[in-house]
Amino acid sequence: MSVWLQDCSWRELDEQRQAAKNVVIIPVGSTEQHGNHLPLGTDTMVAMLLAEDAAKETGVVVAPPLWSGWSPHHMVLPGTITIRPEILVELLYDVIQSLHAHGFRKFIAINGHRIVNISWMQLTAERAQRQLGVKVVLFDPAYMSKELIGLLDYGPVGHSEEIETSQILYKRPELVHLEKAVDNPVVPHELYSVDPCFTGDTLCYVPSTAADQKKAVELAGGTTGSPTKSCPEKGKVYHEYLVANLVKVIRQLQK
Ligand SMILES: [Zn+2]
Repeated sequence: MSVWLQDCSWRELDEQRQAAKNVVIIPVGSTEQHGNHLPLGTDTMVAMLLAEDAAKETGVVVAPPLWSGWSPHHMVLPGTITIRPEILVELLYDVIQSLHAHGFRKFIAINGHRIVNISWMQLTAERAQRQLGVKVVLFDPAYMSKELIGLLDYGPVGHSEEIETSQILYKRPELVHLEKAVDNPVVPHELYSVDPCFTGDTLCYVPSTAADQKKAVELAGGTTGSPTKSCPEKGKVYHEYLVANLVKVIRQLQK
């Protein structure tokens, strides 16, 4: 049976909810430019791919993904669809509230859109826990893989860089045009770089601006990072490591 809520009849869904001990995953991503070589839906796909594989292993349900995040800085290129932070907070809250009404009690929101979506997802999680009495866990791939990134010889988190390119190369190779990828290595900024693997990570998040992105567009078609270092083998290691961590989170919630 499919793990996706939208594929189930209401009867099937209700049975799956009970078997899953009321745990549900919500993939949250973005639709935004991802350089010359990756699809616009990369961030949402990343969250969906992790959710799907962990759900197959554990039997939990996956809710329809949220395909838009806060991406004003990527509006410099076609295809980006940005929603305001307050809309994201309300949308995610309403999804949780609806599923809560149908018996779900434990929510895992997977963040496919890096640091940019985290603050707003935290606002939602806090409100849902306070007002609905549910448990909401945020699963962020960058933070959940920080022990692994150095071992894979990946550079810092950028945009359309070797980390997400390798993962999509492993799971959806037909969507990647690696021959069009251009490198634009990430240079950490002292005092305000946010990256779980960067020793100077200050957690002081300064959003990218449209001007920053214009520079990345001129240099590398919108990429920051080194996507030419990508390969499906490393993508497989990265993906499976995250799925294993996500399965652990699900099992903890089911206890
Ligand atoms: Zn991305």
